Amino acid sequence: MDKNLKAVIAKKVERTMNNLVKNNMMAFYVESKDEVVNKVAELINEGETVAVGGSVTLEETGVLEHLRSGRYNFLDRYEEGLTRNQVEEIFRKSFFADTYLTSTNAITEDGELYNVDGNGNRVAAMIYGPKSVIVVAGINKIVKNTDEAIERVRRIAAPANTIRLNKNTPCAKTGYCVDCRTEDRICCSYTVFRQQRQKDRIKVILVGESLGY
Ligand code: SF4
Repeated sequence: MDKNLKAVIAKKVERTMNNLVKNNMMAFYVESKDEVVNKVAELINEGETVAVGGSVTLEETGVLEHLRSGRYNFLDRYEEGLTRNQVEEIFRKSFFADTYLTSTNAITEDGELYNVDGNGNRVAAMIYGPKSVIVVAGINKIVKNTDEAIERVRRIAAPANTIRLNKNTPCAKTGYCVDCRTEDRICCSYTVFRQQRQKDRIKVILVGESLGY
């Protein structure tokens, strides 16, 4: 990448990290997705109960595979053969996890996390329950403010997720949100994480690459 462009991105990342810290979240930066597993391993103790929110980023960075290594008691919502009831049971048990891992739909330069959920299990666990929350996100998720975060979800994250999940929604066909009223709608709960009451409970690992949606 051009060094001047790199410098601009570095400033944006620095601004975002400083504001995450001001909002009582920890912020880390790693250059590439290959460094994510090591950083995650530093933040979780062996033997801990861990759970995850639905995330392409966790898969792309090898975090899911790491959680299945046997080091942790992983409440694996993706385990083969689980019934819908068993998956929902894992969602509920996840509230008692030591560490919850997820990505985020957007991070503002003001140090906010913006997420839109269908079931709500992911944002609920991010808000309360697990003792620690680790958020892994590529720098493509950084936006200027909440207005841009909303647009990002409407134009990128939600349409891409509906295609991934094989949903019958207008955005899966057009690539943008029309605020549908379909049964398959995945946008049900809208959340902004600003200054956190419990300092350092949320730890954000920013990765200097484009990851997830
Ligand atoms: S509200 Fe409907 S159309 Fe809009 S992004 Fe969500 S699922 Fe797609």
